[in-house]
Amino acid sequence: MPLIICSVCGKQVSKRAMMCPGCGEPDPANYHLKNDWLGRIFWLFVLIIAVLLVWYQFVPYVSAAFID
Ligand SMILES: [Zn+2]
Repeated sequence: MPLIICSVCGKQVSKRAMMCPGCGEPDPANYHLKNDWLGRIFWLFVLIIAVLLVWYQFVPYVSAAFID
């Protein structure tokens, strides 16, 4: 398991630790924060793709209905 140095107390702490066992600093490696950020970008991307797909499926029908 990769270890990092806690920026608050200087103790070695697991990268995936939810908090530093030495000083109690939450998420000392910002590991969970980074994952949160990546997760949000990923889901935003999926949402955009889904909206675009739905848009391209329905736009021809919508414009055809207005033109006729
Ligand atoms: Zn610490």
